[in-house]
Amino acid sequence: MLKYVERGRHMEFRADLRCMVCSHFLGEVSGVKHGPTRVAIRTFVPGPHYQGTLRPSPSRCDKCGGHLYLDEVELTRAAAAAPARVPAAA
Ligand SMILES: [Zn+2]
Repeated sequence: MLKYVERGRHMEFRADLRCMVCSHFLGEVSGVKHGPTRVAIRTFVPGPHYQGTLRPSPSRCDKCGGHLYLDEVELTRAAAAAPARVPAAA
């Protein structure tokens, strides 16, 4: 089986956003992974029990304030080489 793993290639991903402390499921996120530890979250779809704000996407648990982690990360496909988004003029 051939498996192409290109180093430095940015991958799109989806994952569950969960609390490390109380394991509360906040919702599902997707975005682009820039290497092993850096991710850019683009969309956040809240789960049925999430009660916090949607924008910006949550960085802490809406129940206990605990830190979050990405659970069941799935790489979906390689991100486009050149970002199509043009920064908005300030
Ligand atoms: Zn929590």
